[in-house]
Parts: sequence; C-alpha cells; structure tokens
Amino acid sequence: MAVWTPDCNAAAQHAYFALHALQHRGQEAAGIAAQLEERVEIVKDSGLVSEVFQDEDLDRLSSDRAIGHVRYSTTGASDRVNAQPIVFRSGRRWVAVAHNGNITNAAQVRAQLESEGASFNTTTDSEVIAALVARHGGTAAQGIVQALRELEGGFSVCLMTRNQLLCFRDQHGIRPLVIGVLDNGGYVVASETCALDTVGARYLREIVAGEVVTISQTGLQSFQAHLPEPRGCAFEAIYFSSPASRLGSELVYDQRVRLGLELASEAPVQADAVIGIPDSAGAIALGYGRRAEIPYQDGLVKNRYVARTFIEPTAQEREAALRRKFLVLASAIAGKRLVVVDDSIVRGSTMKHVVKMLRHAGAVEVHLRVGSPRVLHPCHYGVDMGHAGDYIAEGRTDKQIATELNADSVAFLTVEGLERALRRPRSRRCFACFTGDYPVVPRDAVTGRDQLSDLTD
Ligand code: 5GP
Ligand code: MG
Repeated sequence: MAVWTPDCNAAAQHAYFALHALQHRGQEAAGIAAQLEERVEIVKDSGLVSEVFQDEDLDRLSSDRAIGHVRYSTTGASDRVNAQPIVFRSGRRWVAVAHNGNITNAAQVRAQLESEGASFNTTTDSEVIAALVARHGGTAAQGIVQALRELEGGFSVCLMTRNQLLCFRDQHGIRPLVIGVLDNGGYVVASETCALDTVGARYLREIVAGEVVTISQTGLQSFQAHLPEPRGCAFEAIYFSSPASRLGSELVYDQRVRLGLELASEAPVQADAVIGIPDSAGAIALGYGRRAEIPYQDGLVKNRYVARTFIEPTAQEREAALRRKFLVLASAIAGKRLVVVDDSIVRGSTMKHVVKMLRHAGAVEVHLRVGSPRVLHPCHYGVDMGHAGDYIAEGRTDKQIATELNADSVAFLTVEGLERALRRPRSRRCFACFTGDYPVVPRDAVTGRDQLSDLTD
C-alpha cells in the first residue's frame, strides 16, 4: 500500500493503520518505508503489524509519503531479510517497492540482471521489480513501462522514488489494487478498500489492469501501459479479502452470501442447522441457510489469536494448530443433522478436523458443502493452494472424499455456480486453481516452495 499526505507528515501513521486493516493478508512480516528529504527510511521485521512498529519508529518515519506492506510468503521460511518494502539502489538512485503477487519469470529476469552486474539482497521476486526500475536510465514511469515488458505473472505493486509514488497492476489485474482520496487531497493506494475505510479515505476506483498511476506534487496521473485484459483472482472473493472490502461495485460479504445461495441451489440436503467454519465461511453459510430454508447458527468459535494453520509444514503440525484454532459450541450441535460450510477444501485438513470435533460433540449427520469448486491446480500468482499431490479432490469422487473426511456427504460449488455468484464469466476471472486455465503460463519451473514468491500488500 502507498500513502501521500500532501500538507502534513502523517503518511507513516496512515500506513500503520492501513496495514492493521490488511493484516489478514499476511502475518509473517510487516514494514513501512518513508521518504525523508533525499533519503528513504525503513522499518520492517518479522511479526504482526502491532509487534513490528513502536511509537518512536513512526516518529522516525514522519513524512508526507510512504509505502507499506504485510507479508505472507508461499515460501517455507519467513526470512526476515525478505520483509518488505525492499529498497534497491543503483548508483545514487533508489527505488522502494511493496509487492503483492508473484512474478512467474523472476528467476530468469534476475539471472539476466545479475549477468549485467546487479546484485540482490533478498530472494524475493519483488526485488527484481525494483531492480528493473532502478536500473532504467529514464524516469521511473519509463522504467515501469520497460519492466512491464519483461515481467510475467500476477502482481500489484506500490513503488516509491525520491519524488513520486507509482502504483501499477499487471495486464490481467490478477491481484487487486484500489485508490482512495483523503480529505486533505492526499491519496491512499491499497490491496483492499478496508484499508481506505480505516484511514478515512474515500474510495475512488480500482487501478485498472495494466494501468500505471503516479502520485506526486502535481497530483495523480495515470496511463495504460498495456491494454487491460482483466482476470481478477476469484479466491479474493471466496477467501482472501476482508468481507468488509468491496471488489468492484460490491462488498465481498455480499458476494460470499451469493456463493452460499448458489451452493444451496446446486447441492441441497435435509438438515436441522447450517454452520460455517469461521471466519471466512460465515457469509457463505448464511447464504446457504437462506436459500435452503435451514436455520443458520454458530457452531464453532475460532480463537482469534491463532494465526495461520494452512501453511504449517507437516500434517501433524497442521492438526495441532487446528486444535488450538477451533472450539465447538456443544449444546448447539448435539443431536442435530448439520450442514457444515467452508469456503474451500485444499488438503482437507480443516474439514477432517472439524468433522471429528462435531461428531464428538454429538452431531448426528454432517454434510459438507464447499463454497468454491474443487481445488486441483497450484496458484502461480501468489496464493497458497498447495501442489499437485496435496489435493484431496484430485482423483476422488464426492463420495470418496466424504469417506475420507468421515462426513455423510460432500458437495462443491460448480465452476458455473461460481460464475453466477461472482457475476463474471470465467474468461474474465482467474479460476486457474479450479480449472487449470492460467491467464499467464508460468515460465519458471514453479514449485511454490523455493520459488521467488510473495503475496502481500
Ligand atoms: P485445507 O484445510 O483443506 O487444506 O485448506 C482449506 C482451508 O484453509 C479453508 O478453511 C481455508 O479457509 C483455509 N485457508 C487458510 N489459509 C489459506 C490459504 O492461504 N490458502 C488456501 N487455499 N486456504 C487457506
Ligand atoms: Mg477457513
């Protein structure tokens, strides 16, 4: 995210609060870079936003422009050195970058830059973006145009130079990026509108796929570096974004309710209650209950201080984390036939664990309903979707999955149902994790683990 507060030095303060609002997008590391006179000052570390910044840090970063970032890497180690923003220096020039997404040819571009004498401080693909811009002889905007010719993948980027903020999206706009206006005429750019609301910025619009927006003393300017071919990530609506953010003209919450309505139309079942796996599936479960005319109720409580269970490396560690994550409301469950809704099933660890807990609490039937299609393909654009061989849906029928998870039945939303709920055809969205139709075919041998990759803000 990026902030410009023209008449005061509140940019880092705003960035700090905006990053709090974006914390769900990454809990591994956080950072803010601010421009002070000719210099760039930076504070970043592993940990949550509330852990990384002290009051004196924000004082030190006092400036009228800043960029910030929260990191969720799909690589194994939460390496401190990979925290963002990243500053790349080339002679007297510096470029600071905060990047969300994944450059799918980063290894190639990096090798090329190294052969030309560039040296890198991190193992992220994000540094490659900064390097391409910093090494360009012309303006930063020209450097971005050149970089966009070379970079492949899905990326939303906020970049800061000595006199400008520059924000841009790849030509498919796979990862989100929006602009808000502050009362004092300043601007905030962030992955989600929830960050704008938190700092009192008015939503202006999305940055368009392939668009480059520059913000400086002369105000906001923009141009299209590529013709837009929008293929926004469907998983933002399904899981990733805050329900309080808007995607396009609608709240994510309302889109999730529609996922549930479609799911109930496609896969009805007789039951006494519908529950959602908190937090992401609540709205989907509500929609399911509404259409199926089955009461929606709470059934599980999520410990809000347990962060991510998804990325734990082994099945045992994931199971242990899940035990810490959920508690069952036993009296609300006992003796009931339940519909249990989750936003997605990848390995099935979450569902398997939840079914076990619900049966233990006395549920008499457990019918699993999933608000997205079967995940069958890795994401090359920065969302952790696991890898071939991880997926419980791979090579199994619904019945076999139900057996595997000890459920009475399982059903997934269809791809057509997802198109209806999101009101966009698959040709205008990225459904690659469900269909294998990748908007950009990755050139690097992507494994998702040791690949240069990030999902961030
Ligand atoms: P599973 O437990 O089936 O392997 O993964 C699906 C569950 O993990 C869902 O409950 C989903 O909400 C949750 N989840 C948490 N973080 C992530 C993530 O980064 N990617 C995906 N695909 N699911 C995640
Ligand atoms: Mg979940």
